[in-house]
Amino acid sequence: MTSFIYDALPMRVVFGPGSLAGVADEVERLGLRRVLVLSTPEQRELADHVAELLGARSAGVFDQARMHVPVATVDAAGTSAAALGADGWMAVGGGSTIGLGKALALRTGLPVVAVPTTYAGSEMTPIWGLTQDGRKQTGRDRAVLPRTVVYDPDLTLSLPPSVSATSGLNALAHAVEALYAPDVSPVVSAMAEQGVRDLATALPVIADRPGDLAARAACLQGAWLCGACLGATTMGLHHKLCHVLGGMLDLPHAETHAVVLPHVASYNLQATPSAAAALRRALVTDDAAAALADLGARLGVPAGLRDLGVDEADLARVADEVLAHPYSNPRPVTRPDLETLLHAAWKGRA
Ligand code: NAD
Repeated sequence: MTSFIYDALPMRVVFGPGSLAGVADEVERLGLRRVLVLSTPEQRELADHVAELLGARSAGVFDQARMHVPVATVDAAGTSAAALGADGWMAVGGGSTIGLGKALALRTGLPVVAVPTTYAGSEMTPIWGLTQDGRKQTGRDRAVLPRTVVYDPDLTLSLPPSVSATSGLNALAHAVEALYAPDVSPVVSAMAEQGVRDLATALPVIADRPGDLAARAACLQGAWLCGACLGATTMGLHHKLCHVLGGMLDLPHAETHAVVLPHVASYNLQATPSAAAALRRALVTDDAAAALADLGARLGVPAGLRDLGVDEADLARVADEVLAHPYSNPRPVTRPDLETLLHAAWKGRA
């Protein structure tokens, strides 16, 4: 008999092409009168359109969201919101913009509505992050969880295939690690298996036909499910390794996930038969780790860490750091095992 604890996260999800048209109703439903629309400078036009849809329920647009949520940006948005009398946040964009909404919710207690336009999945988690003086601080707090998430696949049609691929594979990695997490449950397993199926099927279609709306909808659904897995479980070796590689060697976040995932899957799935079976079903394969490597290759992701500019001599330092702090993983990680894995990921074959 399995035992588990599952904490359901309270949020409303509105999904479908054209669902952006209902944002004003969603804001009204939450009893909000004037929300500040948040975006990056690149997505200002979309933010203006959302403000228009909100009409009197818009307090205005703050378009300075940036990667890694700098504290100075949160300060500037907070000042602007106070001057405009905002009573909530409408984050329109990817993980960076939603991250700004979360940081503002943490600081002010005012609710966030999210309109995601990438596959990163941040909108489904209570995880926040803030950066100051080059140091990133993260935490979990239910106050930052968006109250309502409006998923409109039309908004992802403009996401370039390369960003679609890397943010999609990043989301897929959350589901893979959720399948063997210490706090996995039947609900999480079902979400993870379907999320992997959605993304693995639809990402190659988007690589060929970025304008395929059905594939865009499947990816966004996969992003939702994989994000929910991240929000509900504790991540393992893969996330630890990517965190160390990113922090120590300043590697691109999503590409690092995409390169490392097949190698960690190959290592961990040997110890987790039910997770391996779920992934074989989702990927329609006898060898889940090889299928993940093939998917990355099909999507044009760099093959190995060396292609991301990593010096082989740095791998020992990475191993030291990974082994220095304990984390959850289904299979014990010894130094020789970790070095073998890192060298394989560096060369680029699972
Ligand atoms: P992003 O939000 O940084 O966006 C990247 C660029 O793409 C931006 O310039 C943005 O304006 C643009 N863009 C976004 N959607 C677009 C669209 N539909 N069409 C054209 N351009 C578009 O990228 P991301 O991958 O969504 O987010 C990455 C960040 O999210 C990382 O910092 C990561 O740490 C964070 N994240 C956090 C969580 C969490 O739970 N807290 C989960 C996943 C990711």
